[in-house]
Amino acid sequence: MTISFHPDIATLMAFSAGTLEEAYTVVVATHLAMCEACREQVKRIDLIGGAFLTSEPEADMASGALDRLLAAAADDDIATRAPESHADVPGPIAHHLPDGLDGVRWRWSGPGVAVADLPSSRAGKGRLMLLRVEAGRRVPEHSHGGQELTLILQGAYRDRFGRFGAGDIADHDEDVEHQPIAEPGEDCICLVAVDAKLSFRSRLVRTLQPLFGL
Ligand SMILES: [Zn+2]
Repeated sequence: MTISFHPDIATLMAFSAGTLEEAYTVVVATHLAMCEACREQVKRIDLIGGAFLTSEPEADMASGALDRLLAAAADDDIATRAPESHADVPGPIAHHLPDGLDGVRWRWSGPGVAVADLPSSRAGKGRLMLLRVEAGRRVPEHSHGGQELTLILQGAYRDRFGRFGAGDIADHDEDVEHQPIAEPGEDCICLVAVDAKLSFRSRLVRTLQPLFGL
C-alpha cells in the first residue's frame, strides 16, 4: 500500500493531545493502523508532549495517545466480542464492522452513492460514517460546511487534488469545492468524519440533499 496523503501535523498533535473530536479521532487512528510513517510521527509527538509534563514527573512519557487507544480497545467489551477482524477492516473500526465491508448495511444516498452511519460511543459534534461510491461514478460537486476528514479504505478516487487510494487521507475544510470521481474497477469506500452537512452547488441536489441523508 502506497500512502501519499497523510493527516497534517496539527491534526496529529491534536490526536496525540486527545483534543480531537471522537469522529476525527477514529479516522486518524484508522489511518495510523495503515500508516507506519504517521505512527512514528505520533510517537515522536507523544514523547515531546511527555517531556513538557515537567510538573508531573511520575507521568509515563511513553504512554501517549496510541497506547491509550490500544488500552481503550483492550477494555472495549464490544471489541472482545468480535475477536476476528476482517482483513479489509483496520483495527480501530473493526468492532463497528464484525462482518467486514461486505456486511455493511448501506443506505441509498443518491445515484451510485450509499452511506452507513457508524455509532459514536459518546456525544460528540462530529458524525462518523462510511461512504461508498460506485466504481467509475462521479460524486456531485460539493463544498463543505465544516471540516471533513476522509480515509480511503478500498478502491480509489480522483479529484483536482490528485489520486486518493487505500490509506490516503483527504482533509477538506469549508472553502474546498471538489468533485471526486471513483476509479473504475472497484467501488470506492471511505471512512468520513464531518462536523457539518455537505453543501452541493446544484439547486436540484440541494433540494434532494435531505432525502439523500447527506
Ligand atoms: Zn500517514
